Amino acid sequence: MRSPILDYLDDIIARTDHVDSGAPADYIPELAAADPDRVAVALCTVNGTVYASGDTDQEFSIQSMSKPFAYALAIEDRGLEDILERVGVEPSGEAFNELSLDSETGRPKNPMINAGAIATHALIDDTEEPVVDRLLALFSALTERPATIDEDLAASELSTGDRNLGLAYLLHASGSLARDPAAAVRGYARQCSVNVTVRDLALMASTLANAGVQPNTGRRLFGRRTTRHLLSVMASCGMYDAAGDWLTAVGIPAKSGVAGGIIGVLPGQVGVAVFSPRLDAHGNSARGVVMMERLSEDLGLHLMEASRPSRSSLRERLSTALEGEPATVYVLQGDMVLSGIEALVQELVENPPPTHLVVFDMSRVDEVLPVARRTSAAMATKLIDEGHRIVLVDPEETVADFRDSQGREVERWTVERLARAGGGAVD
Ligand code: GLN
Repeated sequence: MRSPILDYLDDIIARTDHVDSGAPADYIPELAAADPDRVAVALCTVNGTVYASGDTDQEFSIQSMSKPFAYALAIEDRGLEDILERVGVEPSGEAFNELSLDSETGRPKNPMINAGAIATHALIDDTEEPVVDRLLALFSALTERPATIDEDLAASELSTGDRNLGLAYLLHASGSLARDPAAAVRGYARQCSVNVTVRDLALMASTLANAGVQPNTGRRLFGRRTTRHLLSVMASCGMYDAAGDWLTAVGIPAKSGVAGGIIGVLPGQVGVAVFSPRLDAHGNSARGVVMMERLSEDLGLHLMEASRPSRSSLRERLSTALEGEPATVYVLQGDMVLSGIEALVQELVENPPPTHLVVFDMSRVDEVLPVARRTSAAMATKLIDEGHRIVLVDPEETVADFRDSQGREVERWTVERLARAGGGAVD
């Protein structure tokens, strides 16, 4: 049976067939030769399954969609504070290749326009390995296949690359470029010439949706904080001078490239990618933008759409006897975020456990956010003060070194002990 998700992606292509405005980029001679009628779309949830339709195996160059990943690598290398001192995070409202730096600081306005991307490329550490090799290794880890560079395309970009070279010299003159301008632009052009398909891009986007962890290999490629920062910059600066229109109409962090690709990321859910070489006046794929609008509308991707409150952290409450003592067992689940922990706290307040022994079974909990940790420490304090004996069953140590807010350690049981005692959730 063919997945209805694939049928839906076919439908997106069919429904946007009429959009034929714009033209492939021509300031890079090789790009002008692209077949303008190629089209593809792909989607990959944080479970790692890629669904793709259209010219799914067609390779094209990543171009500016490489910028977020290079930026993340620079942040991982040098730390966010250091990078923020050198490259801003303000939308420029200008074209991607505008010859402009911040008039007061001399810094590039953000890492998504060319000035910021060239500066960022030159901030990636090259003491052990050349920058481009490190980027290729990163792209390979993201897409689960060896990344390659279209060297002819890179040469073609350099043959008409005066503008980027101009930018690099401007950056150098203002103290914002760490390396030789010509070498930085050469490296940057190769970074932009990595071959990708929409499948690759969907996997790359879903890694960002998955807080920096590649969903299939489970490898953490970027820190959670780096990823959050990066997605914020993509949301405000990823679509250049069309960023405002994009955020209101499509509503997800995104990045476009002049070869006609666009990636979009809905944090926690899905990465999407589209490809169509004809560009609009902003340098974004014209049909790609329309496909993204449809995807956003149909799949409910818009970030500002209030979603159904996430499910409660409390899966069930059991009244039982453990090791001969009456007990109340709270079986918790999922990611403990504000809304989920609030529901648990409300239950504990309105319907206090009737027994001395209170067990929190956290064996189904994935992650505990700081707010949930603080709130549960405060809750544990109240329960202990009221005379309860609190037991945590936390095999994954989602809350390692858990103490109540008086600093008192909480008793821990293994899953086996809970099961032996006759407790635990029934699956
Ligand atoms: N390599 C291209 C350039 O620097 C990337 C631009 C883009 O994709 N917007 O001009």
